[in-house]
Amino acid sequence: MKQLLLLAALTLSPQPRQIVLTIDDLPRGGDVSTTDKQAIRAMTAKIVNALKGTHAIGFANPGSEKSDALGPAELQHILQMWRAAGLDLGNHTHTHPNINQIPLAEFTADITAAEPALTKALGTKPLYFRHPFLHTGKDPESRAGLAKFLAASHYIAAPVTVDNSDYIYARAYAKHPAKANEIQQAYLLHIEQSVAFFEQRAREVAGSDIPQILLLHANQLNADSLPALLKMLRARGYEFVSLEQALRHPAYQLEDGYTGPGGFSWIHRWAKAKGIPGTGKGEPEPPKEIMELYSKPQ
Ligand SMILES: [Zn+2]
Repeated sequence: MKQLLLLAALTLSPQPRQIVLTIDDLPRGGDVSTTDKQAIRAMTAKIVNALKGTHAIGFANPGSEKSDALGPAELQHILQMWRAAGLDLGNHTHTHPNINQIPLAEFTADITAAEPALTKALGTKPLYFRHPFLHTGKDPESRAGLAKFLAASHYIAAPVTVDNSDYIYARAYAKHPAKANEIQQAYLLHIEQSVAFFEQRAREVAGSDIPQILLLHANQLNADSLPALLKMLRARGYEFVSLEQALRHPAYQLEDGYTGPGGFSWIHRWAKAKGIPGTGKGEPEPPKEIMELYSKPQ
């Protein structure tokens, strides 16, 4: 009986799972081409309101096309909205270049170019760096060179464990307002399936649940969906933690066994280093209907 009660107690109050919410491509990712100040402010307000108290971090591109269109003062206003909500900011390069396509020196200069705007918003140099496209260097030289630059510049690379296709849903959502509800429902299911996929893969590769790091983008779909998305994650037993806290888990000391042009979850990188084969079960992909909406003109 005692054992049964103990079992019941364990079932009722499991150890909370942990997840970090990371939002890339501030001030706005590539869902639509609007550079309207009011639209971007309104979108940002919804995102930061939903994220308040979650220890989330936004990774900005202060020199992106969207940032340029807003101008430095308005970009600073957007970044300050993040800060006022108690959220952290990180460096995602100035213009979001692809490290596979340019010389390393040009890429690292682009990281440095993002610093003035971020330092102004934070009051201190940003601590975290997020690789655009999750590309870490296509050959040993560029990979080691970038890692060396980041270490020398006192950056901590922010890995991603729960990769997903939010940008595909976001573009479909922006293009087809008449289908907003069904796209949003499909999107929430996609994120839940992606989280479930990487929970399973973390257990296979790291041997246990790990604090997960979810990659999302600053777009209207997330602005409209974050409250439901956070509710879904809470229902799965998650609490929201900072990158600093998550990265203390020993899994984040595992070796990254991948050098190449691809960009994907760090769990797959650890699997390569450990020689753990894939299960043949691919990551959740958007269904055909969403891909059609994504490609179809407005
Ligand atoms: Zn990005």
